[in-house]
Amino acid sequence: MTDTKRIPAFCAQCRSRCGCTAVVEDGRLTGIEPLPDHPTGAKLCPKGRAAPEQVYHADRLTHPMRRTTPKGAGRTEWERISWDTALDEIARRMGEISRDHGAEQVAFGVTTPSGTHISDGIA
Ligand code: SF4
Repeated sequence: MTDTKRIPAFCAQCRSRCGCTAVVEDGRLTGIEPLPDHPTGAKLCPKGRAAPEQVYHADRLTHPMRRTTPKGAGRTEWERISWDTALDEIARRMGEISRDHGAEQVAFGVTTPSGTHISDGIA
């Protein structure tokens, strides 16, 4: 028998933060449904409803990857690296760019708060 829970939640896939209901079956997220009692939970867009596909998709990246072939080399190849290695390399490279070319050469950008999960970090 399947253990199904319907958990009041909110969608974090854009800054609208729509109220929703997370459907969890045997500990696995299987659906995102509206939460009509929530002020923004009457309807959900396709991106919000696709959360289970995003969580469990076979091609989802769950660890850092380092490119091992130069740009323009044709076939692109990658190798898995640890989070510590990735953070160390990124910090070192950004430090080099800042030191060699000036701090203004380092910038962060997002396309739109409606298209990113990191909108909470946008000042
Ligand atoms: S991605 Fe869609 S469902 Fe999720 S918060 Fe944004 S508008 Fe709402």
